[in-house]
This record gives sequence, C-alpha cells and structure tokens, in this order.
Amino acid sequence: MTRKLFIDGGWVDPAEGETFETLDPATGNVITTVAAATSPDVDRAVAAARRSFDDGPWGPESAPRRRASILLRAAELIRERQEELATIEVADCGKPIGDAREDVAEAAYMFEYYAGWATKVMGSIPPIGPEAVSLVVKEPVGVAGLITPWNYPILMASQKVAPALAAGCSVILKPAEQTPLTALELATILAEAGLPPGVLNVLTGFGETAGDALVRHPMVDKISFTGSVEVGKLITKNAADTLKRVTLELGGKSPNIVFADADFDAAISGTCAGIFGNQGEVCSAGSRVLVDATLYEEALAAFTREAHSIKLGSGMDPDSTMGPLITAEHRDKVVSYIGSGKESGARLAYEGSLPVDDGLAGGFFVPPTIFADVDNDMEVARDEIFGPVMAVIPFRDEDEAVRIANDTRYGLAAAVWTSDIKRALRIGRALAAGVVWVNDSQPAPTESMWGGYKQSGVGRELGPWGIEAYLEEKQIYIKL
Ligand code: NAP
Repeated sequence: MTRKLFIDGGWVDPAEGETFETLDPATGNVITTVAAATSPDVDRAVAAARRSFDDGPWGPESAPRRRASILLRAAELIRERQEELATIEVADCGKPIGDAREDVAEAAYMFEYYAGWATKVMGSIPPIGPEAVSLVVKEPVGVAGLITPWNYPILMASQKVAPALAAGCSVILKPAEQTPLTALELATILAEAGLPPGVLNVLTGFGETAGDALVRHPMVDKISFTGSVEVGKLITKNAADTLKRVTLELGGKSPNIVFADADFDAAISGTCAGIFGNQGEVCSAGSRVLVDATLYEEALAAFTREAHSIKLGSGMDPDSTMGPLITAEHRDKVVSYIGSGKESGARLAYEGSLPVDDGLAGGFFVPPTIFADVDNDMEVARDEIFGPVMAVIPFRDEDEAVRIANDTRYGLAAAVWTSDIKRALRIGRALAAGVVWVNDSQPAPTESMWGGYKQSGVGRELGPWGIEAYLEEKQIYIKL
C-alpha cells in the first residue's frame, strides 16, 4: 500500500501519481512505497493552509488557549505511541532504538513546551509621549513551509511544527525523502488531537520538486529549513524573489577542545559520544577533536578503546550502540572521506569492523574511524563528513586551540573540556559558534537556544527564539 499525502485534513493521492520507496538502512530492504508530491500538490496544500490561516479557524484570530490544548493533546498522543513511533523511526533511519525512544520523548515534550508559549506571546507599549499610544503586537507570520532532514526525523519535524502551530501559523511539512514515515504519523496524531483541516499538511517527496515548489511559492510567507549548507544557500536564493522570511539550521564541523586540566575520563567519553553518537550523523557532531599536546598520545589511546567498545548492528538490536548510515550513497561518501584522510597523510589510529551478521550484509554501515595528526587544512578537518569519523589535532596552547577551532566556514557548536572556569569563559567568548558546551557535548535543551554562526545558519530555534521565528511584529499607532 502506498502512503498518501496529507492535505486539508485528508489522505490524498499525489496529483501526478509519482511514488518512491523508503528503505531500511540496516538491510537495504524496502519498507514501503510513499507518494512523491510535485508542484500541483504543493499548490493544493498551500491553498488549504492559506484558507485555514486567512479565513480561520487558525491564524491570528484563533484563540491561543485552543492552540495550546491541541498541542498538549498531541504531546499525550505521541507519548502513548512512543514505542510504535520509535520502532518506525529505527526502521526508517537506522538509529539504535534507545536513541529513537529519546527522540520521540523529546518530540512529545516539544509540543508540551510550545503549548505553554501559545498563551504567552506578548506585545509591548513603548512610551512615546502623551499625544499617542503605540502598541507593538506580535502576529503569526502566515503560512510556513517546513523542510527537514533525515538524521532526527520526528524531532526535527516537531522542532518546527510545534512552535509554528503555537504561533498560529498554518504549515506544510516536507520531510526528507529518506525518512518520510514519522512525519506522516505526526499528521495522524495532530488530526486526532483536534487540529483543524488545512493547518498541517504533510508532503512527502523530493527536495528538488516538492521542496523547491514550496520555497518559490508566492503564497508561502516563511521557510524554516534544516539541512545542508549547500541546499540552505539554494533556498536563500530561491526564496529571495518573494522575500520570504527564512530560518536556516545548517551543518557544522564543530571543534571539541580537550585541555590537560580536564577530567580525563569525562572528556574522553564525552568526546567520543560527541562524534560517534547517532553514527556521527549529527549537525553539531564534535568532528574536530583538538587535544592538548601534553596529553595527546594518552587521549588517542583512550579514544581508541572507547571506539573499540562500540557495537555496530541493527537499531532494533538492544545491544547495538551504532546503527547504519542513512543510504548507500551517503555511506560511499563517508568511505571516500576516509580514503581522503589516508591519502592526505593523516595517521589512521583506529578503524572498527563491520557487523558480522549476514542479515545486515545489505546495510549501509561504516565503523567508527579515528584519524590522528590531522592538519586543519586537510579535507577531513574542513568538510562536514556526517559520519563516525574523528579527526584529532594536537595544540600547544590556548591561543592555538582557539585559532584552529575558529578556522572553519562553519560555526554551529563547540565543546571545551577544562576544570578552569576562567578558561572556560574566556574560550567560550572567543569561539565563533552558536552553542558552546563546557564539560559536555551535544545537549540541546528544548528550553534554550539553538542555531549557528557563519555558514551554519541564519536565525535561531528552540526556547522562546523558536516561536519568535514564526511571529511578525506590528506597530499600531493611535493618535489621542
Ligand atoms: P539536505 O540534503 O540539505 O536536505 C534537507 C532537506 O531539504 C530535505 O528534506 C531535502 O529533500 C530538502 N531539499 C533538498 N533540495 C532542496 C531544494 N532545492 N529546495 C528545497 N528543499 C530541498 O540535508 P540532509 O542530507 O537531509 O541532512 C543533513 C544535513 O542537515 C547536514 O548538513 C546536517 O548538518 C544538517 N542538519 C542541521 C541541523 C541543525 O540544527 N543545524 C540539524 C540536523 C541536520 P530530499 O531529501 O527529499 O531531497
């Protein structure tokens, strides 16, 4: 059975009848066939979203408490279906089941958190003198196109859908072609939670067709995109003709700096989790590991021991700590970066082994890999590999560490491991990154801020920033 598109509150066939298969990356087997939306489907979805926004029941005139109660109900429904959603996620994107459960739990919380904000969007009354009153009010930006990647499918979708709906926007969600399934489940859940028809539409399909049509559509007011820098640049250009508001959450090549005064064991395990977690398919992965030269060989040996303890396998196997990469094409790209590291003269300090299970022979696995003596000019230190490949670079002092860390076109995140609080603050201020972790790696609290400096993004998500991204400000000036 082909999974249909969700438009105007119902399941519909794609206008041009196109479909594609979604695969289980652990085996390469087909899970199911999914509709591929094209431009006429985008037109239908945008028309439905527009109606629900412009004429109600959603949009600026909808009651915030009603929006809040629908989002709260959605959170409950996600929790009730946690195991089923986690299992679908594992099948579609390969990650270990424990990680998928955490993603689903955080997705539920995302709806709960933004349900709270729906009733707390406030304007202001700046003092301008006795002759007039100036009211600055906040309104939903309109119809928003939400385009998401495949590495945290339900979480990335929820990170955009929940604040957009809380703000009063109507939305069209275009999930990544590799992982369409949990986005379709979100459509079912939100409909069951009472979301009116047209407010959320889900268009599975390809970026170059469905995504592009959404970005160029004259009746779409906002695009929120999470994905690669290259596509982010394209979207910026294509959205310019209609001057849409654009939020971009893009890639990274994040430094992870280990000082000699750090808690050694915590730094080692945190650093490894930062690059090997989620198979290295993480925008903020600590892929460049800068280590104090006085500790270098000792740290390398410890990284190797940690990497060796990782167990590759099917995400459904509770013993697996690393799943497959998303596609054969992406695996080949990561493998070619490993080849580039070897050719460029980096020292191959560790290369793990593929799973032995015959049932996984068709899967897209890449074992954890560690390069030592990496020069920051090498390809493995400059490009976002988006796989379990650690590039270790020695440094002699703080200034050199900061210089190397900032010598990149990216600026998403950075981690610093030290027991010196003054150093932590000094370096935290000196790093050109949107998120700096001290003595940890990868936490992204829903209540706080997320987003990149430099080519890692434009705008911010999560926390209050997440809902602001779906609001416009308007001044109403009243002469007295
Ligand atoms: P991608 O190739 O850029 O695709 C992301 C999304 O954009 C997909 O839904 C894709 O559709 C769509 N798309 C592709 N071309 C498009 C176009 N011309 N117009 C409109 N939409 C288009 O990225 P990915 O490979 O899925 O994800 C990995 C990237 O995401 C990495 O660079 C990672 O760092 C980044 N990421 C960033 C964050 C963050 O918070 N900063 C979080 C997660 C991931 P199709 O897949 O169907 O082509």
